[in-house]
Amino acid sequence: MSAGILRHMTLPSGPSAPPEVPPEAPLAAQDDFLHAGLLQALREQQVILDNAGVGIAFVRDRKVQRCNRRYADMHGYDDPVQIAGLDSRVMYPSDEAYAFVGTHAYPELMQGQTFRTRLQLSRRDGSLFWCQLSGRLIDPADPAAGSIWIEDDVDALTQAEERLRSTLHEQSLILNHAMVGIVFLQNRHVTRCNRAFADMLGYTPEAMVGMPTRRWYLHEADWANALATMYAPLSRGEAYSGQLEIVRSDGSALWCEVQAKAVAPADLSQGSIWICMDITARRQAEAEIARLHAELEQRVADRTEELRLTVDSLHREVSERQAAEQRALHVSLHDSLTGLPNRAFMDELLARALRQARRDSTCLAVVFMDLDRFKSVNDVMGHDSGDELLRVVAERLCGVLRDTDTVARIGGDEFVLLLPQVEADSTLERTLHRLQDALRPPLMLKGRPMRVSASMGVSVFPRDGDDAATLLRQADMAMYMAKERGRAGHQYFDRSIDVALRERNELEDALRAAVERDAFELHYQPQVDLHVGTDAGAVVGVEALLRWNRPGVGPVSPAVFVPVAEDMGLIERIGHWVLRQACEQAARWQRDHGLRLRMAVNVSVRQLMRADFAAQVRQVLADTGLAAQDLDLEITESLLMTDVQRAVDALQALHAMGVHISIDDFGTGHSSLAYLSRFPIGTLKIDRSFVQAIEQQPRDATLCRTIIAMGHSLGLQVLAEGVETAEQRELLHQWGCDQFQGYLFSRPVPAGQIPDLARQPQYAARP
Ligand code: C2E
Ligand code: MG
Ligand code: MG
Repeated sequence: MSAGILRHMTLPSGPSAPPEVPPEAPLAAQDDFLHAGLLQALREQQVILDNAGVGIAFVRDRKVQRCNRRYADMHGYDDPVQIAGLDSRVMYPSDEAYAFVGTHAYPELMQGQTFRTRLQLSRRDGSLFWCQLSGRLIDPADPAAGSIWIEDDVDALTQAEERLRSTLHEQSLILNHAMVGIVFLQNRHVTRCNRAFADMLGYTPEAMVGMPTRRWYLHEADWANALATMYAPLSRGEAYSGQLEIVRSDGSALWCEVQAKAVAPADLSQGSIWICMDITARRQAEAEIARLHAELEQRVADRTEELRLTVDSLHREVSERQAAEQRALHVSLHDSLTGLPNRAFMDELLARALRQARRDSTCLAVVFMDLDRFKSVNDVMGHDSGDELLRVVAERLCGVLRDTDTVARIGGDEFVLLLPQVEADSTLERTLHRLQDALRPPLMLKGRPMRVSASMGVSVFPRDGDDAATLLRQADMAMYMAKERGRAGHQYFDRSIDVALRERNELEDALRAAVERDAFELHYQPQVDLHVGTDAGAVVGVEALLRWNRPGVGPVSPAVFVPVAEDMGLIERIGHWVLRQACEQAARWQRDHGLRLRMAVNVSVRQLMRADFAAQVRQVLADTGLAAQDLDLEITESLLMTDVQRAVDALQALHAMGVHISIDDFGTGHSSLAYLSRFPIGTLKIDRSFVQAIEQQPRDATLCRTIIAMGHSLGLQVLAEGVETAEQRELLHQWGCDQFQGYLFSRPVPAGQIPDLARQPQYAARP
């Protein structure tokens, strides 16, 4: 098709069939045929133009001569006809754009080339669209023939490209500015990574491209394992997330938290994207936290253990304290020496026993027990022996009592026994005897046999009293009475005891006063030699006997007040006075009257057992000038037996000095003659109670004869006491008794009467 034809042609719209060549008029026909062919070509061209996907315009003289429908559409016109004749400038958004195309397109067009550019053109409504524009001159040799412009609407494409570009831009921005490391891997090699990732591993991003991931793993096995654990989820289209430890370029460890996704899960060879976060510090922090936590737990455990130990030791302390309190309580309630209840506890036990007795309407016996002559044991043998004795006594008492009975030690040698349910007197009596019997066997103290006895006072609820204080007082009083009445026995309380005790107290007061005022005197009873003759004899000695004229009462027997003085601890002082007084008197008789009488002085065992007694005697003899041979010390037999060895020692010392020793009241104690052989004795004094009935009682007579015979067999002299009748004297004389003493010859008399008595012709003393 030539440009000339096209120039004149107005193309019909719509498709048309090619014309047939008519047979008539050959030239005209020929011409017609050509014309038809042209038309056909034009129609075809029109179809192409109408259906082309691009806009096509023919421009000449800067005017759009013609265009196709697509062109009109693209520029917002309903019909190409509306465009025909329009200045091509209207298709451009600005003069600049129009000028730009004119300037750049024509040099190329002129050379017969196609001009191509992408630019924005304008629609009828002023809106813009992207267009791929290409233009060509119809005839480069004749530019005035016009040009053909083909426009391809690439608005959508351009916008997509634009979006892609900006997306890529954003992506690279993200990639390069992300705080996290991002790496693209393909076949476990880096294809791309951002700076953060490179920094994380200590490389440059460039150096990382192509790097095998193996380099980040310390061990081949780890790298191999990673394939299985990480790529399996990726191939399923899932994201992998986890933590792994890799190595930096410098070999240091790097802990990463990793999120990965495959580019195309179905084809892992297309690669995967990994987002990594350096969590080394976090891991370290976590490890540190874990360590601290463990440390804390350890500390808690330690502290718990400490607490447990503290609690344990507290428990221990508490139980120790409780035990200590128990002990303290026990100590406060018990006597440390014997382990028996003490006074305080006894009070409580008594109150309890009384309540019980009241409730059950039963009897309760309260026994007050006091050891006989305990004080002398203590004084003489020492407190350790006294303690031992108390322990043995406590044991023995407990041994004979029932479980329901109580023994308490309430003071030095004082015990209180509570015997509940003693309904019959006979039961109580048996118990009291059992107690005495238990004490009877001698006990060894420091290797020496000792005898112990006790005096007991008994009161019974409800007969004697109703309350604890009364019962105790009554039992105490009864005990005193038991002592008064000869010890080693028991005494039931009765009303008369009240009186007796009051008297006893008064006696004690009076005795104390007498000692203070030196209100004693001595009387002397002559001792007569029996060998001189039946009716006559010689006064060989005198016995000094204490006399006390108690104010307001009169003379009191030493048999009454001496034991009391012994109990009161006054006897040593009194005894010392007696000794000195008697020795002085004997010396005076010798001096003043030429009368040499052996002076017999009664010595209490408490005096004898004093360590300094021998020295005391020696001193008195020295002071008075009396010869030791003229002093006779009378010791009561029974008293010697409480501590035989000590008595032996004491007497030996005196004997060595030359002092004569007599055993007084012989026959009333428990000792045998054989036993007495251990003592350095000179004389046995047969007790008055045996002499009394020798005329009437053959048994007593035999006893006396035996004592005399045995005494002699031991080389002792024998003196009979209390001789009141001539018959007695006669019998004694017959039996070979050496001396006598008694009312028959003389009662004890004041010192002044002795010289006359001694000089009675029938009893003249030896010169
Ligand atoms: P004793 O040593 O056996 O003294 C003899 C006691 O018998 C004296 O009693 C004396 O008066 C009494 N008596 C003497 N002849 C007869 C008699 O024919 N018939 C009767 N019924 N009695 C006679 P007294 O003086 O009452 O002394 C009693 C006891 O007191 C003494 O018994 C002696 O054990 C103790 N005693 C006396 N003076 C002292 C002393 O100075 N010191 C000590 N420790 N005891 C003394
Ligand atoms: Mg005597
Ligand atoms: Mg006597």
